[in-house]
Amino acid sequence: MMSIKRNVLLNPGPATTTDTVKLAQVVPDICPREQEFAGLMKGLRSDLQKVVHAPENEYTSVLFCGSGTINIDICINSLVPEGKKVLVVNNGAYNTRAVEVCQMYHIPHIDLKSSVFEQPDLTVVEQTLKDNPDVAVVYCCHHETGTGVLNPIREIGALAHQYGAIFVSDTTSSLGMIPLDVVKDNVDFCMASAQKGLMAMSGLSFIIGKTDIIKASKNYPTRSYYCNLYLQYEYFEKTGEMHFTPPVQTIYATIQALKEYFEVGEEAKFARHRRVYEAIREGVTELGFKTVIDPKIESGLVVSVKYPDDPNWSFEKVHDYCYQRGFTIYPGKISTTNTFRLCALGTIDVKDIEDFFVVLKDALKEYSIKL
Ligand SMILES: *Cc1c(COP(=O)(O)O)cnc(C)c1O
Repeated sequence: MMSIKRNVLLNPGPATTTDTVKLAQVVPDICPREQEFAGLMKGLRSDLQKVVHAPENEYTSVLFCGSGTINIDICINSLVPEGKKVLVVNNGAYNTRAVEVCQMYHIPHIDLKSSVFEQPDLTVVEQTLKDNPDVAVVYCCHHETGTGVLNPIREIGALAHQYGAIFVSDTTSSLGMIPLDVVKDNVDFCMASAQKGLMAMSGLSFIIGKTDIIKASKNYPTRSYYCNLYLQYEYFEKTGEMHFTPPVQTIYATIQALKEYFEVGEEAKFARHRRVYEAIREGVTELGFKTVIDPKIESGLVVSVKYPDDPNWSFEKVHDYCYQRGFTIYPGKISTTNTFRLCALGTIDVKDIEDFFVVLKDALKEYSIKL
């Protein structure tokens, strides 16, 4: 067995993977148009639906080759009927990305902006839906990875349905980590990519959504060739394959990752992420760092930490010190606040976090940074 250096990735994805997932990519060469490969994708699509408890007779899953943003692009450009609008419930960078997709395709939309430090106000969402009966798609990111805020998607989805719209949620940084039940959570379309909660490799993204809505979207304006949901769905239905070349090795890795996901189980995996998050919060508090988001509205997957005031502080130096010792931390500005993020994604546990804080403490000492 090959020995591969293990890095603890505390960035918001790609995440630390198991060796078995890494090695699952080393397979005999295969043409993805072979029946054997189509068979693998059939099982994969069905397993992805199981992760979010999507009934086979109501939902389908459609695979794409690309990073997670391709899903945002596809859902927005494919699911808006002629003369209708998208309502983006926007409290962060990833929701803003959906607004930018609307702008890029010249799709009528409402950018319902609210504080990045808080959850959206449901009464404002409802009033906006009342005032805009032409909203056909309500869109909201489940876990705003840039801050760590978890949004109340079940409630937003219920409002969307009450006012006759469909609900699309970007679940890229929660799927496979925080239990999601698309039926109970009122989600018509969710999405993710293989390298986040499922702990596989980058290059494969997928959308899980209502089959009847995808079929209806055949008659909606088409705004992209490569990134059209109905076209890819139809191709899968007809042939069992992706329309264009799939990320072959990533698919093998994802199949292995799903096997490991079901072996561990939804609840146990959720509990592990939770204890990793709690260990991060504990370590941060112990060292005297300040955080940005109220833990009550945090996903339990990302902690946004404020840069200390000390003039000796240098994110780059601390990052490099940790990186050289196998730990990756990630910078990010929230509004006007300089922060870095510590994330509980990937196959890591409390011991890794304890080891990380030993290294971080050494880094602070090395550069005489006081908190
Ligand atoms: C990671 C992520 C994406 C996808 O980003 P890519 O850079 O395209 O992989 C989309 N939405 C959320 C919430 C994410 O965390």
